[in-house]
Amino acid sequence: MEEYDVIIVGSGPAGYAAGIYATRFNMKTLLIGKELGGQVSESYRIENYPGLSMINGMDLATKFKEHAESLGVETIDFIETTEIKKTVNGFNVKTEGDIGYFGRALIFATGAKKRKLGLPNEDKFRGRGVSYCATCDGAFFIDKIVGVIGGGDSAVASALLLSEYAKKVYLIYRRKKKKMRAMPVWIERAENNKKIEMIFESVPKELKGEEKLESVVFDQNGKNVEIKLNGLFIEVGTDPESDLAKKLDVSVDEKGYIKVNEDMSTNVPGIFAAGDVTTGSNMLAQIVTACAEGAIAAESAYKYFKKGGIS
Ligand code: NAP
Repeated sequence: MEEYDVIIVGSGPAGYAAGIYATRFNMKTLLIGKELGGQVSESYRIENYPGLSMINGMDLATKFKEHAESLGVETIDFIETTEIKKTVNGFNVKTEGDIGYFGRALIFATGAKKRKLGLPNEDKFRGRGVSYCATCDGAFFIDKIVGVIGGGDSAVASALLLSEYAKKVYLIYRRKKKKMRAMPVWIERAENNKKIEMIFESVPKELKGEEKLESVVFDQNGKNVEIKLNGLFIEVGTDPESDLAKKLDVSVDEKGYIKVNEDMSTNVPGIFAAGDVTTGSNMLAQIVTACAEGAIAAESAYKYFKKGGIS
């Protein structure tokens, strides 16, 4: 079994930043990711990563990977980590295909996964009108009518991207406009976009259609309102990917986010965490905070390793 000083699980900004810092601390580093870039790869425009006034998410993810690999991080892409077991002096990490690796320390940078609405028919219409990724599926809706559900940055950014393909985009939020979580700069752009119509105080209730999604019924203050559309993009937030960590008795908060100390250590010696999966950085969940947490986690893993690791 190949041995590493640190194994990073997750290939988003936190994972790659951790890898870059870990190798520069001379640690033999393995990064295992089930997708390239995590959620970043789905962002069509990133405008708030310092030094890069505008970059596409997949391009940034590719740069992260190339940078990490150029420094000596070993990467395994598009492979799921299936099991992690604690041993006397570290952790046995198993991936799909039953391949095992040993790491003296672990960094969880597993990020978060898209939340579903939880409506009947949601799974039936997935790929038949329902989507969770405007960057991936937007081009299927040229000159069509689409809706986006949510009031955060992801929803508004998706509506803006979809306006480049669709003839009409409904941006549908369940509360009043002033409660929207999205950054004002995004909201302003959506308001100024002629193809986007913002609808407030509308709670999605029913997805209707035969073979494909044809309309969505909303509850608007007790009244049912049906909107006909060809596509519905669900952007109602994310949930942390902390199942592997929980199985190692890593403490999580009530929503499943890994509880971290200032140095990104967890309650389990040798296990660190970084990025959207943690309670860190005031839960800001930005690329820049994920990178910062990754760097801190790597330094903490190094200090832990220098002290002799698990004794
Ligand atoms: P979010 O900020 O948690 O927003 C989720 C939205 O979905 C909220 O407006 C929420 O409504 C709504 N919602 C949740 N459950 C719903 C339901 N069952 N039915 C209808 N609406 C529902 O999630 P996000 O937009 O994915 O953003 C996550 C993080 O990524 C944030 O930190 C964000 O800043 C970051 N991000 C940043 C950018 C960027 O360009 N900087 C782009 C994308 C994401 P309520 O408001 O009523 O709770």
